[in-house]
Amino acid sequence: MFFGKRAKEEEMETILIDTEIYSCMDNSCIGWMRKDFVSDDLLCPMCGNEMIQEIRELPKI
Ligand SMILES: [Zn+2]
Repeated sequence: MFFGKRAKEEEMETILIDTEIYSCMDNSCIGWMRKDFVSDDLLCPMCGNEMIQEIRELPKI
């Protein structure tokens, strides 16, 4: 049986909630921030581009 694999999946189960985030407008950049932690100027922490608001499913914190 595949018991080992199943047990691992259950262990890794996390609660995902819809979270407001800002993600970088540059498609080649993976920068994004949770709304709660975003900087005042709404610029990407990785490349300095503008970011746009988005909803993403993230683990509850
Ligand atoms: Zn960026």
